[in-house]
Amino acid sequence: MIAGADNSCPCLSGRAFAACCGPYARAKAISGEVSSPLALASLRHHLLELLEHVPDLEEVWFAFADELAPRLHGPLLSRAPWELEQGRLDLFLWDFFQKISLARPILRIARDLETRDLRLASRLDDWSLRPWEAFELVRHQESGQVWELRSLATGKEVHVHPSFAHQECQVGDGLLTRVLKHGGHSFTGLSLLRFPGAAGKAYLDKGMRELLARHGLPVATQLRPDIHNELWFSFHRALLELWADMPIPGKPLTKAARRKKAAPAVLVPDLDAPLAELGNQSPREAAGHAMGRHRLKLWLSDLAAKGVDTEDLRKTLLPD
Ligand SMILES: [Zn+2]
Repeated sequence: MIAGADNSCPCLSGRAFAACCGPYARAKAISGEVSSPLALASLRHHLLELLEHVPDLEEVWFAFADELAPRLHGPLLSRAPWELEQGRLDLFLWDFFQKISLARPILRIARDLETRDLRLASRLDDWSLRPWEAFELVRHQESGQVWELRSLATGKEVHVHPSFAHQECQVGDGLLTRVLKHGGHSFTGLSLLRFPGAAGKAYLDKGMRELLARHGLPVATQLRPDIHNELWFSFHRALLELWADMPIPGKPLTKAARRKKAAPAVLVPDLDAPLAELGNQSPREAAGHAMGRHRLKLWLSDLAAKGVDTEDLRKTLLPD
């Protein structure tokens, strides 16, 4: 299981299920254009249904997590874990497999749902076409319920509703998200990767342009999984890495300085204290289930990278 062994939300927001996706479990089905609160409830309901199928893809998830682990191992130290986890889940559902666009998890789930819930299946089909896009947050409206975004590639403006309560952005920030259309409104996707301030926005803009140029694509290209099949996954993975590698504003620590600073605090980890990196479980709790053990491996690798001797911890938590 990816989540759910504890009561943490399967959307990997880092919140408890009851305080996150739980209230949307019984949202009403909608058709046509509806008010934005109704559309949001229905969108969250559908995303939850999508997530409920993820545990069926456990083998695929592990293959994916293994592929990403070495690349995202360093940045795990400095990013908000729930942002990374949601970004990773989003990347998994929408973008994994390489080169076989029809084998992407979101489409496998949609195929599976076709016989039971055609409406949801076709919505997933539609959403599955959305790439991560780079925007600047230009303005908040209606006390933050509506965000006015400007595409960094095309300059086009779009009004979106943040779909998750913990997704936050300040005016002037850069951000990466998939825009999902539902019930006549646009929403941020499952994940939102924030690039704070003018420096963050410039970093995102430059990184996105370089990435497109490397593939010989014009800046205004909107990727499609069927057309850009060959690079769909690697492109999105590169965007997640771009975000994870971003220097933290106000904390221009060198790698060595970060290690020096971080090391004393982690020399003796408390095995019964919950850790964000472990889905808010303690190392001992995480050792009790498969996803927890997978997170433990990443966490131990991070500790080792900080210069901690993890051999005893490994023996205690992950005995073979
Ligand atoms: Zn949730």
